[in-house]
Amino acid sequence: MWLRGSGLATVRRRHVGSTIASPQINPSPSTIRLDPAVGEQPATIVRQLANAPLFAGPGGDTYLCGRCGFVLATSIPPRALVGFAIRCFRCENLSLVPAGGPLAPVAQQSVVLQPGEYMITTVDVKTAALVTQEAVTAWQQHVAWSRALFTPQQASSQTLDRAFCFGLERRVEALLGEVWDKIREADARGLRSPTPPPRRHRLAVLVEAAATARAQLLTPTPTIDGDLLSELDIVVREMEHWSADPSWPLVRQALVSPHEYAHALMTMALATVLVAEGNPAAFHLALGRAADLRLEFSRVSFGACEVKAPQALQGPRSVVAQVEAAKIVRKAWRSAGTGPMGQLKPERSGLLAVGGLDLSSRDLDVLEAAAKQMLDDNPRSHLLGIVVLTLGRAPQMVRGQVSISSYIATRIARNAHYNGRDTLKP
Ligand SMILES: [Zn+2]
Repeated sequence: MWLRGSGLATVRRRHVGSTIASPQINPSPSTIRLDPAVGEQPATIVRQLANAPLFAGPGGDTYLCGRCGFVLATSIPPRALVGFAIRCFRCENLSLVPAGGPLAPVAQQSVVLQPGEYMITTVDVKTAALVTQEAVTAWQQHVAWSRALFTPQQASSQTLDRAFCFGLERRVEALLGEVWDKIREADARGLRSPTPPPRRHRLAVLVEAAATARAQLLTPTPTIDGDLLSELDIVVREMEHWSADPSWPLVRQALVSPHEYAHALMTMALATVLVAEGNPAAFHLALGRAADLRLEFSRVSFGACEVKAPQALQGPRSVVAQVEAAKIVRKAWRSAGTGPMGQLKPERSGLLAVGGLDLSSRDLDVLEAAAKQMLDDNPRSHLLGIVVLTLGRAPQMVRGQVSISSYIATRIARNAHYNGRDTLKP
């Protein structure tokens, strides 16, 4: 068996770490009528025992009973109350506190509720969040998954056979449904066209590689593209995992666009790295000029994280020259914006990320140096730094058996001008 592929096994993995500012969050509190609990009774319930808000927080949203509109809680920051239902004092019906989904971070300072019904008069949630054991367990599982994916080679090594290739194709179909149909049809049209688009949708290329490998494996001397299959493997794992996030339906719709696909992939990869290191990163939909990820440092402050996926870094490509790296970083910086109208506003700490496919160790070095220069030349006290990341691929052939493997490698250019208190791990 012949394996085509360039391993990146020697890439140095360095992780994100620094301290950042602790600005305010939730600039526009609103009044939210909670969803009434329907069907099966929630495992954890807190009963409102008095004619007064059950919870009073340090600032944020007001929660109303989903049935009768009675005020259940006031001044609640995002994710200060997680995973349970409140029994209304007035109508005794159950309302669910807003769900962040199973991938949402749990605040460091949390009071954990075991399943049951609690009788509580009024709770001051100014200093600690109130979360269910279920939410804590879900977050721990998310961290464990991220660590496993971020830890290279062994954990994700996979022997390549026809069943595995077919499985990858089916998993893409199952995850994306009609979105995948659109990608495949547009790709087929492009290939038939006398003037095909300059770049095919990356996912169409990857799935085609799986189908080709499956056919090749029936021949006596199969030729397999281990790089493309390794890439498809990590892409499918990332998408399957993040599909549990409440924002997934919208992310999925956006994947039809080749650029949105690259951007979503880099965002998932960066979130995986941050979470693996124990940082409270959460997917955050890029509506308008909002950031891509949020770093939920505490219940009252979050950091914004903006991810760029420059086309020049999405492969196939040659090495990144210094001049090119400087241009790429400058463009990402300008596109994100670090002013009051930008995605990385001065009012909160920010992290800029530039992601690519299959960048070599040297490419990462060059980009890191360009990022460092950018930070030195443009002092910003609210920026943590600039992360450079790549999805790496490392197919291997051992004793005639092909194993595919993929990983995420990162570098961070830290900002010497930063002045803040929050800490990113490690
Ligand atoms: Zn009520």
